[in-house]
Amino acid sequence: MLLFNTLTGKKEEFKPIRNGEVGLYACGPTVYNYAHIGNLSSYVLADVLRRTLEYSGYKVKQVINITDVGHLTSDNDDGDDKMIKALKREGKPFTFEAMQEIARKYETAFVEDLKALNINLPDTMPRASDNIAEDIEIVKKLLEKGTAYKTSDGIYFDISKFPEYGTRGGFKLGELKEGARVAVNAEKKNPRDFSLWKFSTTDLGWDFPPFGKGFPGWHIECSAMSRKYLGQPFDIHTGGIDHIPTHHQNEIAQSEAAFGVPLANYWMHNEFVNMGNAKMAKSGENFITLQTLKEKGIHPLAYRYYLLQTHYRSPLNFSWEALMAAQIAYIKLLAGFSAQDVSSPSSVIPAEAGIQPASDDLNTSALVAELWKLIKNKDREAVLDIDCVLGLDIENQSKKLAEEMNAIPDDIKELASSREDARRQKDFKKSDELRAKIQKEGFEVMDTDSGPIVHKKL
Ligand code: AMP
Ligand code: ZN
Repeated sequence: MLLFNTLTGKKEEFKPIRNGEVGLYACGPTVYNYAHIGNLSSYVLADVLRRTLEYSGYKVKQVINITDVGHLTSDNDDGDDKMIKALKREGKPFTFEAMQEIARKYETAFVEDLKALNINLPDTMPRASDNIAEDIEIVKKLLEKGTAYKTSDGIYFDISKFPEYGTRGGFKLGELKEGARVAVNAEKKNPRDFSLWKFSTTDLGWDFPPFGKGFPGWHIECSAMSRKYLGQPFDIHTGGIDHIPTHHQNEIAQSEAAFGVPLANYWMHNEFVNMGNAKMAKSGENFITLQTLKEKGIHPLAYRYYLLQTHYRSPLNFSWEALMAAQIAYIKLLAGFSAQDVSSPSSVIPAEAGIQPASDDLNTSALVAELWKLIKNKDREAVLDIDCVLGLDIENQSKKLAEEMNAIPDDIKELASSREDARRQKDFKKSDELRAKIQKEGFEVMDTDSGPIVHKKL
């Protein structure tokens, strides 16, 4: 199985650390707001990876953490804590309890989003706030080794002690913002040194003797939780490309410096979902949630289908038109599948042949194309095989669609049939009027090679 590894900047044959087992870690959301559909694409990648590994016979242990403390609004150690920002936004008191309340609200929403996208829930979803002792242990180790130092506002990692910083494969350094828009922290030895621990200026925080109360840095949390739940090194770390220059760079530096072994052997990064010319961002105005899609009648799995049409290493420029087209394609796929006779003979091509593109760095667009061929060939077994990897829930959703189609009221069926007649006679004015009537009653009609499909509006 070939995977593109950011560490080396090339596709490599995947070799697990332990025979037959794989450890996966994905940086989880900072639960100060709803995840947007760009964030969610990152977990669809992790899910397709997990499914592909499982399909190949590996036992997978997957961890997605929940960042409920310590993530500043900027990767460069400045700005507000994102959780504090949420307290201000929601008019809550600055207490630990209020912070936890907000975190739980968005954590629950995140899990619901994962389920709606048919993402298999990870084996463990550790919360950063439950793993502070593990953070402290690593910071202590770095202090003992002289790789970290104290300033008046926190404890920093000394990058001069990790000469490989920013030199590996795709792990290039990002632009240095400090000094341009952000005040220089004069106490840092190097502007790229990053905080491992911040001292608290209020009553909030955790005790780190002898330093008093404080908060972990965001990067240290991932180093601590991945090590605790998967060991170090573990196999594959995933995340979006925005995390390469700083967050993942820092995870690697502090974990390797503390323990003398790599953090993870493979690093996989998904490209952005863009809106217009900009990355979709939680802080931006171009913020679309799964809930927004649902309100617009888009099924979450149609969004999954939309994502899978593009390779995870290519940027996806979001457009409503393309998403609508993906929804139509997805429903046609389901209808095509449910129209097939369950007892129809399966093809002579072994199922593994169709799934091959998954082993080439998760080539999901090729798998989607393969699905259509298999639907045409009425090869149900191979369709379901590919769906083990793509996770479009074809069997269940096509059953649901068929049930819904059977439960369509007779008057709607009649309208649809009159519309089809009008369409055949090329009376498009009448056919459009009849479609509008059908839509007004809460149904949708779409034309396919095997006739019109009527279904309830999603
Ligand atoms: P965050 O909650 O900001 O840490 O983001 C959660 C995940 O979403 C991370 O893996 C990010 O790299 C990823 N991510 C953030 N924005 C986008 C985007 N527009 N498109 C794809 N992935 C993204
Ligand atoms: Zn992380």
